[in-house]
Amino acid sequence: MSKRDYYEVLGVEKGAGKDEIKKAYRKKAMKYHPDRNPDDAEAEAKFKEASEAAEVLLDENKKSRYDQFGHAGVDGQAGGGFGGGGFGDFGDLGDIFGDIFGGGRSRGGRRRSAARPGNDLQMTLEVDFSEAAFGCEKNISLTRLAECETCHGTGGKDGSKPVNCDMCGGMGEVRRQQGFFTVSQTCPKCSGAGQTVSDPCGTCHGDGRTRKKTELEVKVPGGIDHGQRLKLTGEGDAGSKGGPAGDLYVVIDIKEHELFERNGFDVHCTIPVSFSQAALGAEVEVPTLDGKVSVKVPTGTQSGKKMRLKGKGIQRLGGYGNGDQIMHIHVETPQKLSKEQEELFQKLSTFDTESSHPMSNGFFDKVKNLFQ
Ligand code: ZN
Repeated sequence: MSKRDYYEVLGVEKGAGKDEIKKAYRKKAMKYHPDRNPDDAEAEAKFKEASEAAEVLLDENKKSRYDQFGHAGVDGQAGGGFGGGGFGDFGDLGDIFGDIFGGGRSRGGRRRSAARPGNDLQMTLEVDFSEAAFGCEKNISLTRLAECETCHGTGGKDGSKPVNCDMCGGMGEVRRQQGFFTVSQTCPKCSGAGQTVSDPCGTCHGDGRTRKKTELEVKVPGGIDHGQRLKLTGEGDAGSKGGPAGDLYVVIDIKEHELFERNGFDVHCTIPVSFSQAALGAEVEVPTLDGKVSVKVPTGTQSGKKMRLKGKGIQRLGGYGNGDQIMHIHVETPQKLSKEQEELFQKLSTFDTESSHPMSNGFFDKVKNLFQ
C-alpha cells in the first residue's frame, strides 16, 4: 500500500506555512483522535496518518527532506505515529493536544534536556574535641566525578557536541498506542536524556565526566556538634552535559576527650578531691577548654556536688556567648592507707558527732524510728 502525500493527508497546499499546517492537523486530530472515536479502526488509522504527516511537515529538517525526496527522504525518520516505534519531535504540537484535551496530554514545555545534575556526596570528618569547640580548617580528600578533561564535558570525541536523539527527537520519551490508550515511556535509545553522542569520547565513554581525586579545604565552624553536617554547595559530583554539580555533605565525628564530655554547648568534667580537701575546703586547679583555672572547693563539699563555671563551655554555633563548664565533684575515699593514716582515721572517727555528720545521724534516726 503506497503512502498518501502528507500535504494531501492534512488537506493543505504544498508550501503551506507552519501555522496553517498546525491548524489543519488540529482539525484532523480533533476529528479522528482515538479517545473521541473508540473502537473505530478507520478513525485511528486516519489519526495516525495525520499525526505522521504533521510530525514531518512541522519539522524543518524533515520537511525539507520530504519536499526533496518524498517519503523516501523521511522513511525510518518519522516514527510512524502512534503504534510505531519512535515518535518524532512533537514539541510544537503540545499546545494542540493541550488545547483539545485539556492539557493532560500536553507535551509542551516537557522537552528533555541532556543536562543532568550531579549526585550529592557525603563523607565523615573526624575532628578533635577542641577543634569542634573552637572551629578549624581541615583538608579533606575525596574522589568524585569531575568534568572529563579530554572532551571538556561534552562526551563527544574531540569535543563534539551531543545531538538530539533520533528516536525520540530530543523529547526523552516516546509514545505508544496500547489498545486505545496512548502511553509515554522513556526513550530506549537515549535512556531519557533526549540526546546522544554519535562518536563518544574515549576517556569518559560519552558521559562527559571521569572520577577524580580532589583535595578540599573545609572550614569547620566553632561549636559544631557530633553528627552535624556541613553542606558544601556544588562540591559533589559534577553534573552531566552542563547540569549543575551536586553538593557535598560533611558529617562531623568528634573524637572523645579524656577529660571533657559535651552536652550541647556545656562541657562536663569530673573533679576528684581528697577527703581532707572536701572537709577542710581547698583551692584546686581544674582544666577548661582554654587552660587551667583555680576553683575554690568550699568547706564540707559532698561528693556529687556540681559546680558551674559560667561561660567556660563551647561557643554557641552561629550565635553569641558560650555554654558553661559543669564540674562534678568526686570525693575520693582513701584506699590503701599507711599505718599512720589508719591510726589518724581511727582517732578521727572517735570525734564524729551529730553536727559533723548531720546526714548520717538523721539517717540512723529514721532507721531507728522505722523498726521501733
Ligand atoms: Zn570525555
